[in-house]
Amino acid sequence: MTKTIRVSSLPRIMSCHASKNEVEIEINEDSDAASMGTAVHRVLELAVKNEDEYISQEAINEVAADQKVDDIEELGILSHVGFKAWKTNIEPHINIHTLEVETALSFHVDDWTVTGHPDLMGVTKDGNTLMVVDWKTSRVESDFSSQLKAYGYAMLPMYPDVKEVMLVTVYVRSQVIDVVKNTRHEIEVEYYNELSNVLKSERYNPSNSNCMFCPRLNCEAKKELAHSSLLMLSNIGENVTAQQYAEVYEKIKFVEKIAEKAKKVMKEHIKEHGALSTGDGMEVAVTEEVRTSMNFEKALPSIAAMLIPDEFMPNQGSLLEALIPVIKISKSKIHGLIKDRSEKGMKGKDVSKFNEMLEGADALYETTVEKMVLRKEQN
Ligand code: SF4
Repeated sequence: MTKTIRVSSLPRIMSCHASKNEVEIEINEDSDAASMGTAVHRVLELAVKNEDEYISQEAINEVAADQKVDDIEELGILSHVGFKAWKTNIEPHINIHTLEVETALSFHVDDWTVTGHPDLMGVTKDGNTLMVVDWKTSRVESDFSSQLKAYGYAMLPMYPDVKEVMLVTVYVRSQVIDVVKNTRHEIEVEYYNELSNVLKSERYNPSNSNCMFCPRLNCEAKKELAHSSLLMLSNIGENVTAQQYAEVYEKIKFVEKIAEKAKKVMKEHIKEHGALSTGDGMEVAVTEEVRTSMNFEKALPSIAAMLIPDEFMPNQGSLLEALIPVIKISKSKIHGLIKDRSEKGMKGKDVSKFNEMLEGADALYETTVEKMVLRKEQN
């Protein structure tokens, strides 16, 4: 019987061959990060497909609503970075062939069927190179070449004259574009053989990055890794070497992921079977909490009615002045509104003019947020 694997799983499978095997329990992996990734891909797909010259705020708002993304500003920033890479580094060189969602690719390796949806593919105008483009929204810059090579392998039969395959990974968070070139032989023969060997192998290679996103639950190698990770984390601060500190960040993420997954499994169980007693008079239950948000436009008359008459008018200024301390404005959203109202060809100039006005009015301020990230080593 033919078994199927997804192209997106290949980077992990090439590292831990055993992770190709069927999962015991399929867990819905929806998360804010996954929704954001899907939303960015959707915005870029629409912009490229419609041959847009810029990404409108309207398009971002629509996709955000559709994908239930709350952080519209982040969606806008990531989409603009991906779009800039498209406009400056990719579009001038290729004719678009296929877009994600529109075309599913698949090919066979022995008893396996490999399937996936490339973000973007095309042949350069001289006809010599097949270009495979993937936008990555994850915070980690991993090696995704096995995934991109698979798309190249699936497409090469359609282009007998193509001599090489160019793999382009756009990391939209770090604004890095990674380009790797392979000959036709390297993809058609060497990559195929490597994949075939991997799919025959049952080698385990537990690591934080591999196991964190592996859907398998009952894997002994993963359990051992979890034990050693917890041991290391519980000893943090006590005689920890610099090298161990470097490993700690990944271990924290790994353990957090395990806990998240356990919570999801438990939640599903409680939803199906009811609350769980802890044996000491307490129980673990799933409850619903209703949160109320305000539609600013509809709320404005009520806010005005409460704020204007007594406290702020006529002596203490306008409603706007009253609201200034509690309003936070998104610069990128205002940029979007300006672009939506600009004449054709004036969008960039209008945004630059607006930024100059802001600087002139001393209206910009910076805040620094400290965060830990996993990134390629900086020289
Ligand atoms: S859980 Fe980890 S070790 Fe086990 S199969 Fe998956 S990636 Fe490999």
